[in-house]
Amino acid sequence: VGLARSLLLRASRSQWLARQMRDRAFVRRAVRRFMPGEDLPSALAAAQDLSRTKIGSVLTELGEQVTNPGEAQAVRDHYLDVLARIKERRLDAHISIKLTHLGLDIDRENCFRHIAALATRSAEVGTRIWIDMEESRYVDVTLDLFRRAQAGRPNVGVCLQAYLRRTPADLESLLPLKPAIRLVKGAYNEPAEVAFPSKRDVDEQYFRLASRLLEHVGDGALPVFGTHDMRLVRRLGDQAAGVGLDPGSCEFHMLYGIGTGDQQALARAGHTVRVLISYGTAWFAWYMRRLAERPANVWFVVRNIV
Ligand SMILES: Cc1cc2nc3c(=O)[nH]c(=O)nc-3n(C[C@H](O)[C@H](O)[C@H](O)COP(=O)(O)OP(=O)(O)OC[C@H]3O[C@@H](n4cnc5c(N)ncnc54)[C@H](O)[C@@H]3O)c2cc1C
Repeated sequence: VGLARSLLLRASRSQWLARQMRDRAFVRRAVRRFMPGEDLPSALAAAQDLSRTKIGSVLTELGEQVTNPGEAQAVRDHYLDVLARIKERRLDAHISIKLTHLGLDIDRENCFRHIAALATRSAEVGTRIWIDMEESRYVDVTLDLFRRAQAGRPNVGVCLQAYLRRTPADLESLLPLKPAIRLVKGAYNEPAEVAFPSKRDVDEQYFRLASRLLEHVGDGALPVFGTHDMRLVRRLGDQAAGVGLDPGSCEFHMLYGIGTGDQQALARAGHTVRVLISYGTAWFAWYMRRLAERPANVWFVVRNIV
């Protein structure tokens, strides 16, 4: 499984493979399992459907490692439009952004201006903006820009990855800011010096970090658990109840199309649940990461071909 994961993650950076896969009908059919459609109206319609079962959403347009300033600006404008649609439809929806989609690799300060514009508009709309965490080489700059964006704007949250060896120290440095933190296991190909190669170590570090976040709810931290691992979710539910927290003090976020039954069961049990809905045409690298999380998913694609 480790080898399959690492091959799939390496393949996710191949432009050649991206071109080969993008136009194949069977691949597009398989991708639909994880996204309601390639355009914003499909994502908004899915968010509306989820709201009927008291599940909120987080909207994200697929795309990363943009190398052209005009493109980064268009991404910012797109999200400003998404925020206008959220307001117009009174949707319980957040947005989630990737810094390299907003031009981080081109010009850090310009990227910050885009984040600040989106954070300010999200606050006006009464919603939240999440900053995704990408490969480990971006962690320092992501946390730096998060700190700057969050100053005076409590509606900005950031993702931390439990697989990284450095994350406990990062979490400690962020806790005084009363942060909103979405904790995930981590989806990229990282060397063993940087990230735990064993799933058991990642799961244990996840639980320790999550428990630490729960201890800080009383000080204003908002813990968000971005995972489909129901064993972990149950452990965390017990942990939260054990320290006297009510179900609304943390949130559970999952990906569209994964663990749908669990999402509904958690919402019915009174937990705050959100589904991250991805949409857009730049799905190749993101889709390969979904395959790598569960290499058995590759069989789903193969079945579609047959
Ligand atoms: C809301 C949200 C935001 C995220 N944001 C980021 C981010 O910013 N940066 C980042 O690096 N990663 C992000 N991720 C991805 C994350 O790092 C993991 O790769 C992903 O969540 C799978 O790990 P898991 O916690 O579900 O646990 P796992 O132990 O991998 O999976 C637990 C169970 O969930 C199910 N499952 C998990 N993945 C799949 C799949 N692809 N297909 C089918 N079933 C599956 C299986 O039943 C599996 O047994 C995000 C995930 C979520 C839910």
